[in-house]
Amino acid sequence: MVEQISCQVLVVGAGPGGYVAAIRAGQLGLDTVIVEGDKAGGTCLIRGCIPSKAIIHAAEKFESLKQHQQGHMGLCIDGDVSVNMAALLSWKDEIVNKLNTGVEALLKAAKVRQINGWGSFIDGKTCIVSDGDGNKIVHISAENVILATGSSPIDLPFMPADEKHILTSTGALDIDELPAKVAIIGGGYIGLELGCAMRKLGSEVTVIEGLDSVMAIFDAELRRPLERWLRKNGIIVHTNCLAQGAEVKGSEVDLSWKNGDDEITTETFDRVLVTVGRKPNTQGWGLEETGVKMDESGLFVAVDSQCKTNMRGIYAIGDLIGEPMLAHKASAQGEMVAEIISGEDHEFDPVAIPAIVFTEPEIVSVGLTPAEAEAAGESVKVGKFPLAANGRALTLEAEKTGGFVRVVARESDHVILGIQAVGSHVAELSGEFTLALEMGAVLEDIAATIHAHPTMTEAFHEAVLKTLGRAIHSN
Ligand code: FAD
Repeated sequence: MVEQISCQVLVVGAGPGGYVAAIRAGQLGLDTVIVEGDKAGGTCLIRGCIPSKAIIHAAEKFESLKQHQQGHMGLCIDGDVSVNMAALLSWKDEIVNKLNTGVEALLKAAKVRQINGWGSFIDGKTCIVSDGDGNKIVHISAENVILATGSSPIDLPFMPADEKHILTSTGALDIDELPAKVAIIGGGYIGLELGCAMRKLGSEVTVIEGLDSVMAIFDAELRRPLERWLRKNGIIVHTNCLAQGAEVKGSEVDLSWKNGDDEITTETFDRVLVTVGRKPNTQGWGLEETGVKMDESGLFVAVDSQCKTNMRGIYAIGDLIGEPMLAHKASAQGEMVAEIISGEDHEFDPVAIPAIVFTEPEIVSVGLTPAEAEAAGESVKVGKFPLAANGRALTLEAEKTGGFVRVVARESDHVILGIQAVGSHVAELSGEFTLALEMGAVLEDIAATIHAHPTMTEAFHEAVLKTLGRAIHSN
């Protein structure tokens, strides 16, 4: 029998957007139901941010163990070091499962009812939930709806992923045998994060990129240390090249690509990983029945600054509504929408949403780069401080990839407009960078803030001093 329920808030999708929205709604005393067809935690916890960072960390450890075979730092390993992929995956799965259980416990503690099944709308406020076999299990009538169905990897139609030979990021995070030779189509952050990790674990890695550089969202100065690392570590990068097709032959794949002169190359790989972007999940769950309008691109659900769609009481958040497709953006929107439904008045208007790439080295960008600031009509001062001059960076070997912190400030009033950093471990600096921008800090605010020694945050302090023309530890 189909259970009939009604609620004040229905959330569809329990990724970092949906589950945060549901917990906050529950905390605010709203009678809340969340529907999830897969596992609570969504792309981020189950097959994205967290499992990828677990594998990246394991790869870093393996790389450093190999250095100790050479006696690095005076710490010596005499025997072999090797990768047990099955054990590595089960360690990664333990982390994922712990977080999945944690999210479910938090939903329960906030008195949110979680329904496991796929939601499908028959009108804007009515959703039928079916189990994995397509049996209808629950009929939900909601006063307010939060759409948080997230996104999926984009497939190349001429070489669809089978998750055995041709993988998406989802398959790559569950790969039980490390490929000796792997091709990655798409040199964006997902492809290169996984590519750097696979290289450290021992795979031969080739990247096929359609644009004239990998990680083209960042400027040349930010990309340079990463490009150097890729070269030094033998990752082959073919830029201005487009994949043409792949033929699975036994346990191998013949991959063909075309360069800028229309010349075709075919090479054999053990696996091909396709990371050409992600598309919002807008199909197959009755979005068209809700009356909700799409944005101008036709790809994403259109919302206003409060994440309201054109239909009263229907909100949309996270990857479903567009770039940046990042977990922390989805969560911030989820929290805000729950508060709006409870009667608070908010707008999604952050000064900056940090973007971090966990490659080797890591790259962080918050706010405007110098070129973006100038394009916006600003006259700017820019200061750059090398990690090689930061004591803590040296003790952590974070300077080994040639990184730096760069600050962009308005010339007239010294308001900080953007902060970027490249180097090992710089991801952890992003909180202070974002706080500075969000609080409207001027250079003098940061200059007057005592930064603990020895920490890498001193590199930010020094980059600010440099912008003011008075760095202590650099000319
Ligand atoms: P999702 O996390 O995609 O969640 C949507 C949920 O909705 C899913 O669980 C899905 O099963 C469910 N769902 C969909 N339709 C229905 C339906 N009809 N009924 C029931 N349930 C449904 N972001 C970062 O910020 N930092 C990173 O380091 C990072 N690394 C990443 C690495 C990889 C490999 C990938 C793939 C992504 C990464 N991301 C990262 C992006 C991040 O995962 C997404 O931006 C984020 O998960 C989006 O959150 P969301 O809540 O909008 O959607």
